[in-house]
Amino acid sequence: MTTPLSSVKAYAAPAEGRPLVPTTIERRAVGANDVLIEISYAGICHSDIHTVRGEWGPQDYPLAPGHEIAGIVAEVGADVTTFKPGDRVGVGCMVNSCGHCKNCRNGDQQYCLNGTVFTYGSTDRDGTTTQGGYSTSIVVDAGFVLAIPDGIGLAEAAPLLCAGITTYSPLAHWNAGPGKKVAVVGLGGLGHMAVKIAAALGAEVTVLSQSLKKQEDGKRLGAAHYYATSDPGTFEQLAGEFDLIINTVSANIDLNALFGTLAVNGTLVSVGAAPDPSPVDGSLLSAGRRSFAGSMIGGIAQTQEMLDFCGQHNLGADIEVISADQINEAYERVLASDVRYRFVIDTATL
Ligand code: NAP
Ligand code: ZN
Repeated sequence: MTTPLSSVKAYAAPAEGRPLVPTTIERRAVGANDVLIEISYAGICHSDIHTVRGEWGPQDYPLAPGHEIAGIVAEVGADVTTFKPGDRVGVGCMVNSCGHCKNCRNGDQQYCLNGTVFTYGSTDRDGTTTQGGYSTSIVVDAGFVLAIPDGIGLAEAAPLLCAGITTYSPLAHWNAGPGKKVAVVGLGGLGHMAVKIAAALGAEVTVLSQSLKKQEDGKRLGAAHYYATSDPGTFEQLAGEFDLIINTVSANIDLNALFGTLAVNGTLVSVGAAPDPSPVDGSLLSAGRRSFAGSMIGGIAQTQEMLDFCGQHNLGADIEVISADQINEAYERVLASDVRYRFVIDTATL
């Protein structure tokens, strides 16, 4: 007998822009291909904040965010062979995709042509709206469950499921490694993982932050150089410098100024989701055969590859564990760039 439909504890936004409140949400009955996970920790991603503040369009409320989920398998459906109760597992930003379009077949489920089912705020196969990880348990198709390596604590692993893969994927795609100069713009949740991963890949890493306040941290995380973007001299000093820039900033910034810091053939990849479109001056790209690109999370196989890489290199996130009643305060601190470097909710406090 598998667990039937159940109500579980959660924290959810009752309406757009409103503080999150304790509530209960429904989890579906465990199907033949499903895994029931008891959630231990859920990271707070800036995307959670964009979503519940309505910056990414209207949502169904109440909505429980959370797509950096780490926990323990409690039960598996009859056809699941890849996981068993007691396994340490994670779930990231997506919980299903069509599985047969060319992007899914290529392992890019995040670009499913028939619509990726994201972990919260998406229409699930049964027509219900998906609810995220700020809750005590979740039922997920086994194909979207990841194994967490033994060497990483569950709390430190949770942010890897979004911040880790979102930065690992472009770093891997654009070949960050020895001999490559990589800049990371914005030292927040994504940015600090980008620094750790790029350094572990062997690249020479530079942080471009708004100020020098976090310089010591940046160096400890693996950066060789650290500059303040508020200092106009920075852009002159770094003209033509970088092979790859990963922009993790959650707000609109001057991308054209950054283009000038790219070397010939360099690429600026924006993973940050600024609320408004940013003007791009193509002539600055032409003047150096430069590219401007984007990237969204990463496929399931690559997410497992990232987790294994982080396990081998002992790379968990730098976290501040909070209780559920501190979620709204944590949102304010993320908005003020006062996060070192990811808030993680202890779901036992829900
Ligand atoms: P975060 O922890 O808030 O970090 C963002 C950092 O950007 C801040 O720490 C700050 O770094 C910098 N920043 C913030 N406001 C700024 C401003 N007005 N001007 C210049 N710099 C500013 O956020 P996060 O969770 O890392 O997420 C970053 C962005 O990526 C969000 O927009 C999120 O939605 C998006 N995202 C995208 C994907 C994807 O798949 N593409 C996945 C996850 C998240 P400094 O203090 O160092 O300047
Ligand atoms: Zn995220």
